[in-house]
Amino acid sequence: SAQTAPPQSATGAELIAESLKRQGVDIVFGIVGIPVVEIGEACLSKGIQFIGFRNEQSAAYAATAYGYLSGRPGVCLSVGGPGVVHALAGLLNAKINCWPLVLLSGSVDTDQVDMGAFQELDQVEACRPYCKYASRPTSVERIPFVIEKAIRSAMYGRPGASYVDLPADYIQYRTTEPQWIERCQVTRVQDTPRSMANDASIKEAASILCNAKQPLIVFGKGAAYARAEDELAALVEQTKFPFLPTPMAKGLLSDEHPLCVAAARSKALHEADVVLLVGARLNWILHYGQSPKWSDSVRFIHIDISAEELGNNGADTLPLLGDIKLILKQLLAQRPLPQLQPGNSFVKGLVAKVSQNVEKTRLASLEGDDTSILKYRTAFKVIKDILPERNIVYVSEGANTMDIARSFFDVHEPRHRLDAGTGATMGVGMGYAIAAQAYYRNERVVSIVGDSAFGFSAMELETAIRVKLPLIVIVINNNGIYHGLEDDDYAESKKNNCLPPTALSPETRYELLSVACGGKGWMVKNRVELATALKEALAAKDETCVINVLIAPGGRQKLEFGWMKQKGDKAKI
Ligand code: ADP
Repeated sequence: SAQTAPPQSATGAELIAESLKRQGVDIVFGIVGIPVVEIGEACLSKGIQFIGFRNEQSAAYAATAYGYLSGRPGVCLSVGGPGVVHALAGLLNAKINCWPLVLLSGSVDTDQVDMGAFQELDQVEACRPYCKYASRPTSVERIPFVIEKAIRSAMYGRPGASYVDLPADYIQYRTTEPQWIERCQVTRVQDTPRSMANDASIKEAASILCNAKQPLIVFGKGAAYARAEDELAALVEQTKFPFLPTPMAKGLLSDEHPLCVAAARSKALHEADVVLLVGARLNWILHYGQSPKWSDSVRFIHIDISAEELGNNGADTLPLLGDIKLILKQLLAQRPLPQLQPGNSFVKGLVAKVSQNVEKTRLASLEGDDTSILKYRTAFKVIKDILPERNIVYVSEGANTMDIARSFFDVHEPRHRLDAGTGATMGVGMGYAIAAQAYYRNERVVSIVGDSAFGFSAMELETAIRVKLPLIVIVINNNGIYHGLEDDDYAESKKNNCLPPTALSPETRYELLSVACGGKGWMVKNRVELATALKEALAAKDETCVINVLIAPGGRQKLEFGWMKQKGDKAKI
């Protein structure tokens, strides 16, 4: 240990921590165990925060979200073998979302490879399919070199994942050579280099936009990652084009902006003749850019940092290759620049549709009275009315919960909403919420999650409570996956002695998990209870809170769970 070592000695673990520090890493997410405990300790002694999780999967998810929010790779530390396999989920998540992540994992001593060593796995090969760069340093002294390369590879170009394999004998290496750590260091990775699109393409783009009859701007989380909010605002201000954010791009421009047509999404996609597509891919989220969701003759002007992405799925595309911020500036400098006139019929049609849809949602959110059993929208209305407009970071997952919440909650600030993302990954919520709360220290993270999604990583509540992160987790609980189960479904399955695969136990007391770990918890069944609980949670500024919101399962009207039939309970449907 450090106490018995000669004063000038240095260890491999310290070399690793110093390399991370020099690369600007301020926080590490992970779980320690043999052989990485010393790395965690060395990080702490160098002033790097370490958040210890309960499963590497959540830790790796947290690191991906931190990378997205901070613009530099999130770092995850794990043990080898099973630890790496759990963390693979995070590597995949980084790859599919194009977020920067570096996974550092301990591995077997170099002289025990292939011997059946403790937690042995060929981790470099296991990680490689999900990584832009995966490597084991050829010697302990090469660790800073590999860490620099891992960080640079994760950040530069299209962001993604890197893996660094750290054999136990490297970590435990000890030397008395003065200045050893200093001698091994390499330079710090510079900020991401940015390039502009070629001039001729920019001119062509401006001319196509000038001639467009029904133009639409669609921006994605790549624009959020690029921090292009000011340029997007200037572009919308200049062109008066309607715009549509993808789910995680919400808030780059306020959802309340009069030209935001998110609430008329289908109509906008269908009618647009020219689309300026900014940091979003034509994947399943945007229906591959194909009919029937899009018009057959739609033309895309696509800004992306990844050349291979441009023209994907056969879309008719004018590619603008390079950095979003710079390219939007290039476009803004063009003359003439298009501008839609007030009263433009395409925009008017979309705005009318927006009002119609907003009104529909509003009416649905008013159903029932104060003692009625909650539904998604009636619960969300209570939450929306109480939450402050600003300084709230939304995290959302779960099939229906996420879908409905997405259009319900307006976001006004960039990078203030995280959800299941390109992978539609369930189980990211707790990791994301922890990362977001660690990043936005002075704001409140509100995680609105389905009961099934929450269950994937509910034990991370202990992590949040231990680290004193004042998350508010609102579990929308309908006793199962998708629509949940009703009483007759349970009765039926009792007869058959077999529950359907979508079933979860009814009335599970998720809020007690929080209480058990030292946090706060409420179970609520109606508007009044929900409002009270949320107000109390907001007032509990330093505490992790879970509100378990029992909502009506299924789409049918007949609901007779035990808690709905309590004596004297005025609950109605
Ligand atoms: P969404 O899910 O919101 O539709 P995607 O993850 O599909 O967004 O797309 C994000 C895109 O943004 C990726 O293709 C990625 O290459 C791109 N991107 C990320 N950062 C930049 C940047 N600085 N400049 C240009 N494109 C970027």
